[in-house]
Amino acid sequence: MHLSKKNQRDPILFVISGPSGGGKGTIMQRVLAEFPAIQKVVNYTTRPPRNGEQDGVDYHFIDEKTFRSLQEQGKIFEAERVYNDYYYGSPSDLLDEGADRFIEVDFKGHQKLRRHYNEVVSFFVLPPSFEELERRIRQRSPEANLPARLNNAREQIAEAGDYDYLIVNDDLDVCCCEVITAIRAEQIKRKGRRFLRRLLAGTDPNND
Ligand code: ADP
Repeated sequence: MHLSKKNQRDPILFVISGPSGGGKGTIMQRVLAEFPAIQKVVNYTTRPPRNGEQDGVDYHFIDEKTFRSLQEQGKIFEAERVYNDYYYGSPSDLLDEGADRFIEVDFKGHQKLRRHYNEVVSFFVLPPSFEELERRIRQRSPEANLPARLNNAREQIAEAGDYDYLIVNDDLDVCCCEVITAIRAEQIKRKGRRFLRRLLAGTDPNND
């Protein structure tokens, strides 16, 4: 694990999970706009881009053959065929960078990241209700397999207790404000601990 000069402490991996349609993408976009120093981890997917989505920004949009080939080369850390249709996966080099990073994974990915990495802070986005979740999925895109997505939503939500922060996405402004507050608090907590370590060790804590 690298020490980041800019952050003057070990980088944090912020993880966001939740059912499809729960608002993860929307929240991530708003929250990251507040933290230019936090890098978004761009995942891979074999699903086609939705309206307005950009390759390399929202996802790396690749075909199934390329996905399998990246998997064989060990370049995909966590892969899922979540809705019995498209593949989703995270890049395996995500721990090589020094900056705080933000990644979207499902609950299995979250468990795996926790085993590999100390500085994980996780958020689980809960919908205000299953009815509202269904409405948002329908409104966002006319993708098939709504029943698969809703079943998967129940499976994901059953694991929500493992997360550091449970965020209810009812009012988007409130929800983003809660995530932003938690990120600031986690950064402050680590900055203070590092300062104290250096102070006690006799290293100038103000000079990296
Ligand atoms: P996910 O990334 O979890 O699949 P999205 O961010 O794509 O979910 O959100 C799904 C849909 O719900 C989008 O159309 C988004 O604009 C809408 N949405 C997200 N949060 C809210 C909210 N608090 N109130 C109403 N609609 C929302």
